[in-house]
Amino acid sequence: MGEILCLNAGSSSLKFALFASEGSGEPQSLASGKIENIGIEPHLVAHDASGKTIAEQRWTKADKATHETLLADLLERIQKQVGKDLIGVGHRVVHGGMDFAAPVRIDDDVLARLDALCPLAPLHQPHNLSAIRAVRAVQPSLPQIACFDTGFHHEQPAVATRLALPRALDAEGVRRYGFHGISYEYIARQLGEIDPLVSGGRVIAAHLGNGASLCAMKDGRSIDTTMGFTALDGLVMGTRCGALDPGAVLYLFQEKGMSTNAVEHLLYNESGLLGVSGISSDMRALIESDDPHAKESVDLFVYHIARQTGALASSLGGLDAFVFTAGIGENAPEVRSLVAQRLSWLGVEIDEDANRRRAPVISTSSSRITVRVIPTDEERMIAIHTAELLAHAGTAS
Ligand code: ADP
Repeated sequence: MGEILCLNAGSSSLKFALFASEGSGEPQSLASGKIENIGIEPHLVAHDASGKTIAEQRWTKADKATHETLLADLLERIQKQVGKDLIGVGHRVVHGGMDFAAPVRIDDDVLARLDALCPLAPLHQPHNLSAIRAVRAVQPSLPQIACFDTGFHHEQPAVATRLALPRALDAEGVRRYGFHGISYEYIARQLGEIDPLVSGGRVIAAHLGNGASLCAMKDGRSIDTTMGFTALDGLVMGTRCGALDPGAVLYLFQEKGMSTNAVEHLLYNESGLLGVSGISSDMRALIESDDPHAKESVDLFVYHIARQTGALASSLGGLDAFVFTAGIGENAPEVRSLVAQRLSWLGVEIDEDANRRRAPVISTSSSRITVRVIPTDEERMIAIHTAELLAHAGTAS
């Protein structure tokens, strides 16, 4: 028995969750929270399992708090709270490349191989890895486990992962990987428990948050997904463009004379819902707005979900169930309703009352497709893997 810390480190935020593990069995949630605004004026908030705030702190610029000092501070607080050493730390690592499918215990060799993948996810991977290094610097002997966003998609057929570029590029890793895999693995696991019949069939899960993607699952395994080589591909997102004709990118370089950095910023930070609405990347603000551009951005978001659902239903050879998850998927009945209307040709029919109440099943009894809302829990999935790996290695007591 011991405590596991799960970390999801981004460029300006650090999400964390603490779990108690029996070694085998479901880890128990103890606390969770996040530090936001890192690099400017960091703000930490932590809640216990009932949602009660148990810690809050703000740092000013004068404190010169860095990712490293904040993580060391967090570890110290958590060790104090727990009263003994943690048994392990599980990390969300965005890219496992072609080598890493399953979660792995981190050692020097693994870290070097993950470092080599930074060019494939330059905006995320370096932050994930610096959190691993920061924990090592404070507690070198604490076991650390990496769980990969790409891992769940690893067994997809070659036809789903290949890009139509010269073969040599595929060999060096320029191919479709897919992301949000930790979330989809959790959804597949939950579905297997609550609805085994459906989970054994053809399912599309929609992870709709600031980042958004769809995953086609057959018998609980990913066979296709909308994100590809990077997390820019696929659906319209909060600030990311989604699938784009590469010719449009060439135009930005050749005709607009934009630099690589400027194009990267445009595609990752100024596009998507924000770019189209000119108002916000936040779905709540867009739903509440009367501005026609806000409505247009929501319509485009929904249009592409429906369009890509058609594509993935084709990859699956039909569709038995559709699952909504993540910030928008779980909390925006308006978006679920608009998506369902566009999917009515597939046999999707939702019960608007169940949809508004966020019932677990929101489809009508006569709907050909079962439509569910399942809250995702990436941190729990990381805790489950970390506990399993530690138990396997015999380090969990
Ligand atoms: P991330 O990808 O950063 O983890 P989340 O999964 O938290 O993001 O999703 C964030 C998105 O969810 C934002 O667009 C936010 O507006 C949206 N969202 C959260 N709550 C609601 C709500 N009640 N109604 C509509 N959208 C919501």
